[in-house]
Amino acid sequence: MSEIANLVILGTGQGGFQLAMSLREEGFAGRIVMVGDEASLPYQRPPLSKAFLSGAVDEEGVQLRPAAFFAENRIDVRVSTRAVRIDAEQRRLLLENGESLAYDHLAIATGARNRLLPVIGADLEGVMRLRDMAEAVYIRDVLPRVRRAVVIGAGFIGLEFAASARAKGIEVTVIEAGPRPMARAISQTMSDFFTAQHTAKGITLRFQDGVSRIVGEAGRVTGVETTSGELIGADLVLIGIGVLPNVELALEAGIAVQDGILVDEFMATSDPHISAYGDCARAPNRYSPAPLRLESVQNTVDQARCLAQRLVGKPTPYIALPWFWSEQGSLKLQMVGLTTPHDEAVLRGDPASGAFSVFCFRDGRWLGAESVNRVPEHMLARRLLARQFSTGEAMLSPAQAADVGFDLKSLLT
Ligand SMILES: Cc1cc2nc3c(=O)[nH]c(=O)nc-3n(C[C@H](O)[C@H](O)[C@H](O)COP(=O)(O)OP(=O)(O)OC[C@H]3O[C@@H](n4cnc5c(N)ncnc54)[C@H](O)[C@@H]3O)c2cc1C
Repeated sequence: MSEIANLVILGTGQGGFQLAMSLREEGFAGRIVMVGDEASLPYQRPPLSKAFLSGAVDEEGVQLRPAAFFAENRIDVRVSTRAVRIDAEQRRLLLENGESLAYDHLAIATGARNRLLPVIGADLEGVMRLRDMAEAVYIRDVLPRVRRAVVIGAGFIGLEFAASARAKGIEVTVIEAGPRPMARAISQTMSDFFTAQHTAKGITLRFQDGVSRIVGEAGRVTGVETTSGELIGADLVLIGIGVLPNVELALEAGIAVQDGILVDEFMATSDPHISAYGDCARAPNRYSPAPLRLESVQNTVDQARCLAQRLVGKPTPYIALPWFWSEQGSLKLQMVGLTTPHDEAVLRGDPASGAFSVFCFRDGRWLGAESVNRVPEHMLARRLLARQFSTGEAMLSPAQAADVGFDLKSLLT
């Protein structure tokens, strides 16, 4: 790749920030301009549904770096600036304010946006989604006045919010269309554990139920009517039913898109002057037979690092191990590997103790692990799984995983 003098990063989220930082760490000397439509400097999203709601961290606490960092590193961050078109032929990014930015290379990290729920009442005041700082600030500030909350969708963000709200004494009901929580990502055993724990804290979980409409008075939400015909009172409703990747600008610019901007293992799109990564991109992943679009900090950060290396002329394919975490009240859930679908879920430890792991296998081959409040064991699982994929040798059998007396560390020697 020829020398890049002028790099534009579209998106000032986790990925935008990481690419700019990694490029400077790699010695990239060219101009870096970041363009983002949010008002804040780059910040971390994960705390927005966790410590930010409990008040343990504030706006400043979630910022990835203070303003001085960007000035010192010659990173020109344009906040509150929306990009409206990519002119791939002229290599220019057109902004809503009428300006256009020339680029030698454009890195797209536009992330994802929340799916909308197409029901009557979804636009009432007090019906929220939780993706960005503005939404998180609204929710945090209104929570002290909320008595009853309904969460639509028992995914990670919905349950993290539910646990935070319940800890404040709010009556919480979670409505989920599927048969169990977080079903896309975790085993039945782990789902059952979380259902039991949330229920014990007083959260009501309703599975295999939907929402027929959201009701309100004078423009404000007052409740949710379920498809099973019940009306559940609420002064706050949180919709957490998944996200859609922000791919429209790439699509209009003629770049290949398929539920995510398609990239190769170096984050290159079908346009040689444009790359994409993070939540908006679908990339090959050595842990999966088909390209994947992942929504995690690990994936975004590692893909940004991979792209930075390519842009400074040191291309290294993306091979990072996928991992993810969630915090729901006092429960810290960690996941490593891609465990869905699996045909065997082996329990290690006792769920009744509140700290255990589930090791998932398919056709006898270990795919990954889920752990609750068992950090050292989980970190060990990460090392073992990474080794399994680099050597190609099976590292762990179901019998070894199930035997708590078996020292997992011995497999590393
Ligand atoms: C509440 C919440 C909790 C989470 N918790 C966890 C967790 O516990 N663990 C974990 O691993 N991951 C978690 N995630 C996911 C993680 O935050 C994302 O995977 C990560 O932020 C993706 O980074 P990104 O740069 O691809 O996208 P984002 O961080 O979403 O950044 C994309 C940015 O691009 C901007 N943008 C889009 N289009 C345009 C445009 N046309 N013009 C200008 N700007 C534009 C967006 O507004 C946004 O600011 C959580 C996410 C949320 C919302």
